[in-house]
Amino acid sequence: MDLSNPTVRSYYMEFLRCAACSQGFEYENPSYHPITLPICGHTMCKQCINIMGGQKACPQDQVSFGNTPIDQLPTNYPLLMMIYRPSELPKDHKQRHYQCRSYIELDDEKKSYFNDLEKGFGDISVIIMQMSKKKKKNRSTIRKLFSVLHSQYITNEGCIKFLQVASNLGEYISIDFILHYQNHQELKNNLESALGLQQGQFPEPAIQEKILKFIILLIRCSGISSEQHLMYSILQLVERKDQITIQPSVEYIVRLLFGVHCFEIEPIGEFSSIQLKPTFPNYESIRLVYDSKIIENAMEYGCYMTGEQWSVLLYGYETNESIIDPIIDKLLTKTSFQTGIKQYEKIVSSIGAVQGQDLCDLIKHIQFLSNANLAINASGLSVLNSTLDMLKGALNSSNKFKKRS
Ligand SMILES: [Zn+2]
Ligand SMILES: [Zn+2]
Repeated sequence: MDLSNPTVRSYYMEFLRCAACSQGFEYENPSYHPITLPICGHTMCKQCINIMGGQKACPQDQVSFGNTPIDQLPTNYPLLMMIYRPSELPKDHKQRHYQCRSYIELDDEKKSYFNDLEKGFGDISVIIMQMSKKKKKNRSTIRKLFSVLHSQYITNEGCIKFLQVASNLGEYISIDFILHYQNHQELKNNLESALGLQQGQFPEPAIQEKILKFIILLIRCSGISSEQHLMYSILQLVERKDQITIQPSVEYIVRLLFGVHCFEIEPIGEFSSIQLKPTFPNYESIRLVYDSKIIENAMEYGCYMTGEQWSVLLYGYETNESIIDPIIDKLLTKTSFQTGIKQYEKIVSSIGAVQGQDLCDLIKHIQFLSNANLAINASGLSVLNSTLDMLKGALNSSNKFKKRS
């Protein structure tokens, strides 16, 4: 990476310096070699690690690393590869780790396993460098990418941690892609098919607000007796020429609110009247349950958006993401990710970003990663090398994506 360029330098240095003392990592000075802690993944300079001596927990986050002798952990060479040219670093694993006790004490089989992993992580380091040269990534993407390199794969705990991180990154690559590759119209089309609406039937933000407010007004003041009665009454309130276009939206919103049980039926003599439940005293409370249900339905279908994108579709401006983000966070689960992969495949192939065998491979990689941290119980650590390969594959193919025209 061209760290002589001050902008690039300040952008990436956060990930290439000691978590404790902020010293930039250096190869020439062994005191400033990066050492990654096994469980939390914090990386510190050798000097700080030596100062920590007999401690049992990371000073940054108090995460315990048990009995691992941290002063014997190996230098994180893949991380140094972000800073130095290959010719500036020793290639040979023995030469790299000749002073590292935990490496020297590995038996031959484990040594060769470690060497393979170190090489694999080195490859990932090269891919990340290529990615960062191509276009400026947002900070959260960079943070995720770098968190893979902050892995301590000489210990079992570190390996398990890596699988979680890799799986996480797999999800992130695909969801990030979905989020940033769709334009407003595509998002809206996807949303409509997710919600079972025809194209153009998802109401504009102003109409959504109007319908929701009419519902509250009518229920409070006009004695509404049924779902149909409510729909009919709302349509009476809008101009005749608008009635036909807005009818599907009205039906959709009314059904949605009945579906989430916002109402209760109150018998009055031989008639009944629909009332709002006491848990929905105002527009804001109805609005929250309405927003949540739409987002939930969309995500079940694999329709992902950022908080800002939802905010535009629901409110007409971007700045309501603070209401939306907590809703999305609550809904993100393993299952929603599995549907997300299908959506990802659809978008990637429809825009021709990758095709044919490449596309099949990419989806296979992402799918593998989505299960990586689950697979560890079934097949032990041998899953590690294949996870690294899959991660390389996924990063490489997303690197190769053709720019959309
Ligand atoms: Zn330090
Ligand atoms: Zn830590």
